[in-house]
Amino acid sequence: MKTVIVGAGQAGAWVARTLRQHAPEAAIVLVGQEPHPPYERPPLSKGVMSGAQPEPPCLLSIQQADELGIRLELGTRAVAIDRARRQVLLERGLPLAYDTLVLATGGAARQPNIPGANLAGVHTLRSLDDAVRLRGALQAGRRLLVVGGGWIGLEVAATARRLGLQVCLIEGGSRLCARSVPADISNFLLDMHRRHGVDVQLKGAVTAIEPAADDGALRVRTHRGVELADVVVFGIGLEPNTELAVACGLQVENGIVVDARGQTSDPAIYAVGDVANQPCGWPGAQARLRLESWANAQGQGIAVGAALAGQPPVPRDLPWFWSDQYDVNLQVLGLPSEAGLRVVRGSMRDAKFCVFQIVEGALHSVVAVNMAKELKLAKRWHKQGRCPSIAELQNPDTRLERL
Ligand code: FAD
Repeated sequence: MKTVIVGAGQAGAWVARTLRQHAPEAAIVLVGQEPHPPYERPPLSKGVMSGAQPEPPCLLSIQQADELGIRLELGTRAVAIDRARRQVLLERGLPLAYDTLVLATGGAARQPNIPGANLAGVHTLRSLDDAVRLRGALQAGRRLLVVGGGWIGLEVAATARRLGLQVCLIEGGSRLCARSVPADISNFLLDMHRRHGVDVQLKGAVTAIEPAADDGALRVRTHRGVELADVVVFGIGLEPNTELAVACGLQVENGIVVDARGQTSDPAIYAVGDVANQPCGWPGAQARLRLESWANAQGQGIAVGAALAGQPPVPRDLPWFWSDQYDVNLQVLGLPSEAGLRVVRGSMRDAKFCVFQIVEGALHSVVAVNMAKELKLAKRWHKQGRCPSIAELQNPDTRLERL
């Protein structure tokens, strides 16, 4: 059996590793358009951008791939899929024949569609090369304008403040991270960034960027006039890399549509990670969801790798992600909303709290700020299908670890 995996990122690397673990004889080819072996992206907006961590952790080094008998084709873009012949065509090199194909192509940072978006000094952040370019640009005393108040924008702002830049952040909506957390958490994030000296503008807009002077400074036209900046970073979302899937006629709708096993509308082709639109049985979720998180990419990669080797289905965990900003570690388990009852333990003012959301007696979501231990407990409760009573959660004297 020959498996070709297109996309050598978090999800693709986990498919390859898991398949090899269960199928020692399988022929596996992992194709990646970046020149780097698969690496983890979360440190890019944190330690890699600040310089505290020169390299992100590698998920499958060239040596490991060699030892595991996984053929790595790096610096090579897959440009087409011939479903009739079961071949992947590459930008360079011979076509790759497959019995099973896995699309793990992730996504690209959404590009701004405004005049001046291509000027030097204007950045987006998705890859290691983007992070290294930004690291060079973020020098103390410079003026950074971040567009977008989602997780990437907020992490870039926090890292830049730590490096001593002046930071202005413009968000188009009325609150931060509105797609993933309820209003009280958005307000907590807003207060935190303002306390750290970020000029956060909500309901704002950036309409054009022009060169300001010979020294590379930029004039940014915004809702409140003209801002001067040395560096502009757009963190305005992700476009799933679905071109290959669209061109070969797979079903695509906000990502590549897959079933619970990760299979697309062609049974010989699977999709995993940020690019996959999957069915979900999680509480409060829509029928289908495309998740953009490290844990989802890893979990789906492992599940599909195991399925390709004929292993029993791997149970899927609740969605989980984290973000690190200043001295705050924020973790989200499940898909939080305003529904049901929300119990806050700890203190928002001290940036050490947990919000448990209970819907119809079941644990629906947890947002934990600097309370990693409690989040870990909640993961365990969810796996065991139980939840402390509301009275127990509301009682500040309850020792959760004893429950
Ligand atoms: P990717 O990791 O994007 O990998 C896809 C790979 O496929 C890429 O290397 C791409 O170049 C390649 N590719 C695409 N098209 C082709 C083609 N045609 N041919 C060959 N190769 C191709 N998640 C968290 O949970 N917590 C965090 O703190 C966090 N921080 C993040 C910070 C940053 C800056 C970024 C960018 C992401 C962060 N994430 C975080 C999200 C997490 O990293 C992603 O969800 C995860 O990387 C998705 O994995 P993936 O394999 O689906 O896609």
